[in-house]
Amino acid sequence: MSLLRVLLALGVIFSCGGPEPDPSGEDTPSSVSFSVQPSSLVFAQEGGTEEIALTTDSKSWKVSLTGSWATVTPSQGSGNARLTVSVSPNEGERRMLTLSFQDAAGAKGTASVSITQEEKPTSTALIPSPAAFDGNKRSDLTYQLLIYSFADSDGDGIGDFNGIVSKLDYLDGLGVTALWLSPAHPTSSYHGYDVNDYSKLNPLYSSGKTEESAEAEFRNLIGKAHEKGIKIYMDYVLNHSGRENEWFRNAVSATGPYRDYYVFSTDPEADVAAGKIDNYAGATSPGMGSWHSAGGSVGYKGRLHFKLDWTGAEKTITVTESAAAVQTSNPTASKWLWIGSMGAVGLYETSAGIFEITLDVDTDWGFLVRTSTTSWDGGTKYGAKAGHSKITLGVPFILDNSAAQDITFGAPSYYFASFDASMPDLNYGPYATASSSPAFQAIAETADKWIRMGVDGFRLDAVIWIYQTNGGEANPTFLKQWYDRCNATYREAGHTDNIFMVGEAWMDHAQEKNYYKGINSCFEFGYWPLLNNAVSSGRGSAYVPGVIGFIKDHKAVRSDAVTSLFMTNHDQDRAANDLGKNADSEKQAAAMLLTTAGKPFVYQGEELGYWGTKSGGDEYVRTPILWDRAGKDCARKGVGGKVDEAMLTGAISVEAQTADDASLLQVYRSFARLRNTYPALAKGEMSAVSGITDSAVAAWYMSEGAQKLLVIHNVASTPRTVSVSDSMDKPVALLGSGSRDRNTLTLGSHSSVVFEL
Ligand code: MG
Repeated sequence: MSLLRVLLALGVIFSCGGPEPDPSGEDTPSSVSFSVQPSSLVFAQEGGTEEIALTTDSKSWKVSLTGSWATVTPSQGSGNARLTVSVSPNEGERRMLTLSFQDAAGAKGTASVSITQEEKPTSTALIPSPAAFDGNKRSDLTYQLLIYSFADSDGDGIGDFNGIVSKLDYLDGLGVTALWLSPAHPTSSYHGYDVNDYSKLNPLYSSGKTEESAEAEFRNLIGKAHEKGIKIYMDYVLNHSGRENEWFRNAVSATGPYRDYYVFSTDPEADVAAGKIDNYAGATSPGMGSWHSAGGSVGYKGRLHFKLDWTGAEKTITVTESAAAVQTSNPTASKWLWIGSMGAVGLYETSAGIFEITLDVDTDWGFLVRTSTTSWDGGTKYGAKAGHSKITLGVPFILDNSAAQDITFGAPSYYFASFDASMPDLNYGPYATASSSPAFQAIAETADKWIRMGVDGFRLDAVIWIYQTNGGEANPTFLKQWYDRCNATYREAGHTDNIFMVGEAWMDHAQEKNYYKGINSCFEFGYWPLLNNAVSSGRGSAYVPGVIGFIKDHKAVRSDAVTSLFMTNHDQDRAANDLGKNADSEKQAAAMLLTTAGKPFVYQGEELGYWGTKSGGDEYVRTPILWDRAGKDCARKGVGGKVDEAMLTGAISVEAQTADDASLLQVYRSFARLRNTYPALAKGEMSAVSGITDSAVAAWYMSEGAQKLLVIHNVASTPRTVSVSDSMDKPVALLGSGSRDRNTLTLGSHSSVVFEL
């Protein structure tokens, strides 16, 4: 029985609020005051301790708790006190309790403190669950394929058309919707960029090794590829042909119609200055390339009299046809002719400073004057000034001993080549009317043939060198004529869309975008530096505005612009080298390429992690595909056996990577499949995510109609946690590792995730 009840039982009645007797004899108050600071506490999930301050006039107070997960020390006392509240870790949901003070003697008055503790984080690993692929490919993913080193079907070591057919399942499994084939025409090189006949196909790429079998097997390839939803883009080389092309052989040897197909001059310096070289389009020097001898009739056969005048400051030689007796060489001469196969011929001094001789001449290049037969130092050789080599019989010819070029009897001819001498530039005349030039019409007729056969588009080589003013209007103007011509044929062939053409405009974006005036796509050479820099440096924030800027600039030129994105191609060191051969970086670069807007291209071998640099030869960045571990059908001969065998081991083969779920090849396959599954990813609009500001994270939306995806890549080599305001309930792809906790996302190093919103 409590003390109060005992007192009540004894009949000692006190009025409410009045003084109460206590055992000590002092009055017990009927109410007391309690005040506590702070009045609420919030603990993290981990728990901990906090102090509270109690102010009271209670002589005997005690604490009560509504839950058992917190303790208070002390739990009872007298008067003012400081108490410690301890909370243990919370293994469950968010929880609350109340801590109450009351007087132990029963006096009225109380105070309370509310205590809250956060829940245990609900961090869960992201498990992607993509929608089912409906079998309708839409990735717009193109595979750059080198015919000579992709797949060899007949065991001759050179890739071929039937080899490609045999690997269409591989390409289909990689999700590709188009192939860009390396040049397929007859050629004098392994790479094919010196085309010898645009209307034919390389016999080496066929089983029968004839042009007929090549055409039949190419036609078969087109049909089989189309059955799998794979288009065929041919590589067309408009800037130049091969030197062995019949057009050029005819052009060099004759003045017939083929002469106009190429850029010839007997005096390039004068012709360029006079604006006669249409290929220069007004430039006074070539953007790239040089003039090469095209031969011509520069020699002489017959009897000639030579008279050298050494008396004045200006030395001259006069050559005339002669019927006089032939003289032998003067062995004690001080002046010599160096002429054809005769070598040195000594002249006779007939008067002071005058030297003469009559000879039967048979030279196919001309002659020089020499003042020594033993010294070849400068100053002993006299010839023609640069660009003025032709002598006129009977007219004194002024000698020059600085340039001292061959003195010729006819005008030599030169041809222009942007690249090397094996690839003479084609001549399309003034650019505004290029389509009416004989060369344009001839090459367009060959393109018509392939379009009618079923070819779906073209990759156009070296478009910035077709005219030498690569930054001006000439090339875009030319390309528009080419595009319109081919597109007309394409539409006549029954297509309802427009033909696709992607130009190799290898230049700064600021100049490249101008080429969209002519064609509907160009390779964006600014893309790989952007992607490489993001993945290699761990700074992803520049990526999204960079890509969006490219696309915006291209669309501003034409609404149907297609921004073609790629890492590297057959003319560059491999992307894997730029990425330090780091597998995680290569995987992430692939994931970023395949989740970005635009039209992605994957270069043969990139999906396997091939590396290689051009330093030992271009072949080392054009390595054949190793299909199985043993390399039985590897087309090594297609690159002349120039293969880095340290790279081309069984482990990098398609067979080995197919068996490894964590391989780079599987990353390409899964992200390409994702792109084929989601229209928003394949053809959606790319836009920035404003809420994610971590510079190591590249995040963007891809939207198409009602479908919207959120794409997030952590390009850092450490885990990153970011706040995400969008729903993360539907992850559809994951590279690396990732977890979420309500509104935060943690991605492991070089990890990527895609959410469907
Ligand atoms: Mg073969």
